[in-house]
Amino acid sequence: MIGSVGHADWVDRLPNRVKELGGISDKYVQTAFDEIISNGRVSLSTGESLFLKADLIDVMLLGHAIKQSRYNDEVYFNSNLHVNITNICVLACRFCAFRRGPRAADAYALSVDEYLDRIRPYSSRIDEVHSVGGLHPEWDVSYYAKLISSAKQKFPHLSMKCLTAVEIKHLSEIGDIKISDVLSTLIDAGLTSLPGGGAEILDDDVRKIICNGKESSEEYLEIHRTAHLLGLPTNSTMLFGTIETAMQRINHLEKIRKLQDDTGGFQCFVPYPFLPDRTRLPQAQHSTGNETLRTISISRIMLDNVPHIKAYRMNIGDYLSALALNAGADDVDGTVGHEEIMHEAGSQTSVEDDLDRLSILIENAGGIPVRRSTTYDQFVIHRRRPPSDDDRWVSLPVADMV
Ligand code: SF4
Repeated sequence: MIGSVGHADWVDRLPNRVKELGGISDKYVQTAFDEIISNGRVSLSTGESLFLKADLIDVMLLGHAIKQSRYNDEVYFNSNLHVNITNICVLACRFCAFRRGPRAADAYALSVDEYLDRIRPYSSRIDEVHSVGGLHPEWDVSYYAKLISSAKQKFPHLSMKCLTAVEIKHLSEIGDIKISDVLSTLIDAGLTSLPGGGAEILDDDVRKIICNGKESSEEYLEIHRTAHLLGLPTNSTMLFGTIETAMQRINHLEKIRKLQDDTGGFQCFVPYPFLPDRTRLPQAQHSTGNETLRTISISRIMLDNVPHIKAYRMNIGDYLSALALNAGADDVDGTVGHEEIMHEAGSQTSVEDDLDRLSILIENAGGIPVRRSTTYDQFVIHRRRPPSDDDRWVSLPVADMV
């Protein structure tokens, strides 16, 4: 297993945590709890009933009890910067508000110097650059290797978490080289890990409608498997609230769980809802706050072998993230600094890169803020200026309410 997994005996610790949180009264949540205690794993049919029939508060309670059994009050984050490399994309996924055609007035593609210029102002206070973008029709793997190696040369302390599975597939096709060779070239250039984007829902019928032309479910899993076998840790995501059913979400979680049984290479799972602004998916069902929190909790409950569950602030906002930290999430987006993909689709989350502000959010949710490295192998408790009664309850800007 890569990185920190918290208390290995979390199943043994779970009954006491559930009791401390008030106990379970919902029968479907009780079944999930019983399955964990007897097999360490929740069945797919029980998972589906957590979506369709179970009481939200009890689902959140079990998610939080598992989180507490693994990590106590600790909540992880890192100091990072998002740099989107290009918004030009040869595909046109219907849920995507970010992509542009090459001739669009606001299309852009960063040169190596422009990429470094975007990092430079933040470089002394961040640990990680998170870079993803569109599928550029001309750039091949050598361009990305140049971006990564140039960033590593200028800023050697930075971890480079770059490129989603579909970008890796695109580089493989454009250069007519194997996926493993694309990944090896990028690892040699200094790539630290892959973000998990592009999983959407791992069901090819759904994918055909929401992101036709993207990698298939099997290809997504194979690319992550190949990365894991090369020693490259990855994250995984789930975009919910488009057209999928509860069972399709559960099957998605099961596919991640199975691959993780084989490789142990997923560090973190990031479930987030579809944001509709400037997208082309009128049939989307959308996600309420109830559904978002429920999905985060069920992700924690189902993914017994994935160490971390992230509350993706850039998508769900700071207030829902704070609730998610009491519903199974143990990790929250870092400082971010700049973000386009979610903001183009309607997110209003602040990208102000202020560690103290993030710590206040975590502390107000009852957590202990722990700054972590990209690969969850270095940690430090973030101590902001001594808290006082006056600054304990800080109001976040109204713009953050989603
Ligand atoms: S989601 Fe990614 S692959 Fe799909 S259109 Fe947007 S940028 Fe392109």
